[in-house]
Amino acid sequence: METEIKTFPAQLVERRWLSQKTFEITFSKPASYDIRAGQRIRIYYQALERDYTPVSAPQDPEITFCIRKVDAGQFTPVLSTAEIGAQFAISGPDGYFTFKPSPRPPVFVATGTGIAPFCAMVRAGAAGFTLLHGVDDPHELYYRSEFEFAADRYIPCISDKNPSYSEYFRGRVTDYLEQHLSAAQYDFYLCGRREMIREVTWLVDEKYPGSLIYSEMFF
Ligand SMILES: Cc1cc2nc3c(=O)[nH]c(=O)nc-3n(C[C@H](O)[C@H](O)[C@H](O)COP(=O)(O)OP(=O)(O)OC[C@H]3O[C@@H](n4cnc5c(N)ncnc54)[C@H](O)[C@@H]3O)c2cc1C
Repeated sequence: METEIKTFPAQLVERRWLSQKTFEITFSKPASYDIRAGQRIRIYYQALERDYTPVSAPQDPEITFCIRKVDAGQFTPVLSTAEIGAQFAISGPDGYFTFKPSPRPPVFVATGTGIAPFCAMVRAGAAGFTLLHGVDDPHELYYRSEFEFAADRYIPCISDKNPSYSEYFRGRVTDYLEQHLSAAQYDFYLCGRREMIREVTWLVDEKYPGSLIYSEMFF
């Protein structure tokens, strides 16, 4: 027997572009909708549905997401153009990608908008972590000042080899781990592209045995 998924109405309240490709979008929050930082929410519009992880804190009165517009995609063009006031629906929250303090140092690794759950975690009080954020260019380092404040180490990893980005680590997050993170046991939290999660998982098996890995794959 299929269980019916409970959905709630959610009104589009605000949209704010963070860069040419990426925007924040805010929805009204249903009454008594309890969410933990790092959990995902499914958004519905007509026949379409997709999962997103809020950047807002659980205690915020509204729910905000950071979303990259995929030009050839189906749902993000709708989200990026829908009128303020439009009615969507949401279900959830779901998932277990939440911060679990432990004796091992936490290492957060994100690519692109995979930074979202870490933003929610910081806004819920997470601190004392290492964060690697892999992006193509520095304009995509969203929420940078919040991470610089909360993290022990905040390391933007810029894949574009443009020499004017010399103040940053230039390379992928896996390059940084290979070259700079000393061998020890950590709790790794990985969020973003499938390839990054796969490659970091291999690297952890090889270089950081005894570490734990939590992961959330966006696409
Ligand atoms: C648990 C979970 C949480 C997620 N949270 C977020 C979030 O907070 N922010 C966010 O931007 N996305 C998030 N996603 C991805 C999101 O669900 C959609 O897949 C994405 O927005 C594309 O939807 P679309 O309908 O526009 O594209 P689709 O029509 O579904 O896909 C078109 C193509 O685009 C590719 N694609 C999907 N996402 C991206 C991307 N970001 N960059 C480049 N190519 C992509 C797909 O692999 C596919 O080949 C999350 C996914 C999951 C599973």
